[in-house]
Amino acid sequence: MKKILVALMAVALVGCLGSAALADTLADAKKKGVLVAGVKDSTPGFGYIDEKTREIVGYDVDFCKAIAKKLGVKLELRPVTSATRMPQLVSGNIDLIAATMTITPERAQQIDFSYTYFFTGQKFIAPKGAVKKLADLEGKRIGTAKGSTSEQNAKKALPTATILSFDDYPQAFLALQQGKVAAVTTDESILANILAKAPDKEKYEIPADIRISDEPYGLGMRKGDKALVDFVNATLLEMEKSGEAKRIFDDWFGPKGKSGIVLQRTFKITAGK
Ligand code: GLU
Repeated sequence: MKKILVALMAVALVGCLGSAALADTLADAKKKGVLVAGVKDSTPGFGYIDEKTREIVGYDVDFCKAIAKKLGVKLELRPVTSATRMPQLVSGNIDLIAATMTITPERAQQIDFSYTYFFTGQKFIAPKGAVKKLADLEGKRIGTAKGSTSEQNAKKALPTATILSFDDYPQAFLALQQGKVAAVTTDESILANILAKAPDKEKYEIPADIRISDEPYGLGMRKGDKALVDFVNATLLEMEKSGEAKRIFDDWFGPKGKSGIVLQRTFKITAGK
């Protein structure tokens, strides 16, 4: 009996220590009255600086706003890049990543993801008429961003190409405009937004038939931060049900959307994905 009691106490103690060591960002955010989200600030359509208001706006930002509102706290935005977003989260500098981030099994070993809240695939921008099929890019220099799935996928799909990684996609596109790379590759959603904003857009195209991956976006949270993950997922499902998630999509990518490009909403936010 005594042995059982000791064993039970040991289990309880380990349980307490275990949960104390794990993050409870939801409780902390409520206590502090603020949720800190890491967003892009140079990715048109998703997270970029509005020229008039100088505020960071975009599809990703609107999801953060909805989550903070539901939680009843203020939202603070901190800019991240593809390469800095996971270290910033793990070090505690931000509470949540909302930054065009694809859910992958490798990343899911280090952080937890919400259900998919956006879906796209990886494509290329190249000078008009220059690239008809993937093989046309073999041996060429291709621009993308550091720390992205785009970088990894491009290396696999084009083993003889030289992949040049920049801090963000507008810098990679500048290299294309300057003739330093033959193409830029990343998610179609990002490429289409960059192209729409380019003053010399008639010179470039996104070849329709070259698509090298699926890219489901998830909101990133610290590993084991269960209360926040559950809260975010419940909020996403509610936003899908109420039509708010579709409204945000249409607000940016619908026929009259603020991004100026039109995308098809080929997904719905569902549990387990
Ligand atoms: N969605 C891809 C990724 O998570 C590319 C876009 C980005 O770099 O954020 O890596």
